[in-house]
Amino acid sequence: MSEEYEAAYEQALNALERDALRRDLKPVTGQGNHTSVRGEDGSLFVSFSSNDYLGLANHPKVVEAAHRGIDECGVGSGASRLITGTHPAHLELERVLAAFKGVPAALTFANGYAAASGFATAFLSKRSIVLLDKLSHACLIDACRLSQARLRVFRHNDLDKLDYLLKWSAVQPDVDRVVIMTESIFSMDGDAAPLQGIVDLKNRYGAQLLLDEAHAVGVIGPQGAGLAAELGLTVEVDFHLGTLGKALGVAGGYLAGSRAMIDLLVNKARSFIYSTAPPPSLAPAVMAAIDISASEEGDRRRDQLRSLVNRLTSALGLVSPPAAIVPIAIGEASKALARAVALRERGFYVPAIRYPTVARGEARLRLTVTADHTEAQIDALTHAMVD
Ligand SMILES: *Cc1c(COP(=O)(O)O)cnc(C)c1O
Repeated sequence: MSEEYEAAYEQALNALERDALRRDLKPVTGQGNHTSVRGEDGSLFVSFSSNDYLGLANHPKVVEAAHRGIDECGVGSGASRLITGTHPAHLELERVLAAFKGVPAALTFANGYAAASGFATAFLSKRSIVLLDKLSHACLIDACRLSQARLRVFRHNDLDKLDYLLKWSAVQPDVDRVVIMTESIFSMDGDAAPLQGIVDLKNRYGAQLLLDEAHAVGVIGPQGAGLAAELGLTVEVDFHLGTLGKALGVAGGYLAGSRAMIDLLVNKARSFIYSTAPPPSLAPAVMAAIDISASEEGDRRRDQLRSLVNRLTSALGLVSPPAAIVPIAIGEASKALARAVALRERGFYVPAIRYPTVARGEARLRLTVTADHTEAQIDALTHAMVD
């Protein structure tokens, strides 16, 4: 640990601090669900920061299934799935997940980030072209970089620009595939992709589509299956990507689609092959969460969530978003941070989202609502925000 390096680290941290871009880990403990959290000093906050949209992370049935999972499978998996790490619970979860998504097959990963990078190593090469929505999640960008595919970015939700890039891709020599990548519900903006338009273009040019449904699964679509299912476009999506850690309340990531696509992933996805399998003990908890999402209770929770989101946005004079993410545009990082601190002083935990998660000068507050919030909590927040 040379002092020179230590000084350089401090300097880099100070530079972040100066730009209001420094991040620190603040431990909080949940109070039964993610709608209220307790800080280290004991103070209690109403939280609008969790992606546990359906309130399943602390749902008694999910918690009970997690206990059962540990009783039946132990805790760790012991090896990569291809060595001795595949437990029947992994395969059962993948069958349940594929049925939930309405496709033939699925493969689970340690998290969504690993699923994205696994996709890249299995399906992209230097000869591939990726056309990516400008506001896509960092894991998609990192996956493209890892693959050395040629990356072109189109303006957010701009079908004309996508059309132009598809035309350009069609005349490039020696291309093995063209993949459009986008999110269905954008993680930091909360809006939806124009999926039908993207599918029309993809078909016109013979391209493929990877759709990241991290913030849509559980929240929209029949049984909470996501935006593609909502629009009847499931079969048009070549690669369904998602996480088990947001509305499904547990942990893990997945890719879903055709059987051969999944079998090829098993052979070529490096984040799958060279990584210890996710604990099989978690599989029963994820299956319980999918079961709830697909049931009448899931519908009730989605209705509750929608009505709370509408209550929040109408009180703030904003248009109602398609899912459960409500961004409040601020601009400068320091201002967003100050707003978040002011809200914390009034008992609300709301994250300030800054560069590099969003572009410079586009800092914002990002409110996320869950089905477990109460109308009184929403009203208290809107009073604090308009004051
Ligand atoms: C959270 C997120 C991921 C990554 O999923 P994890 O399971 O948390 O790694 C991927 N894409 C989007 C859009 C996300 O918001």
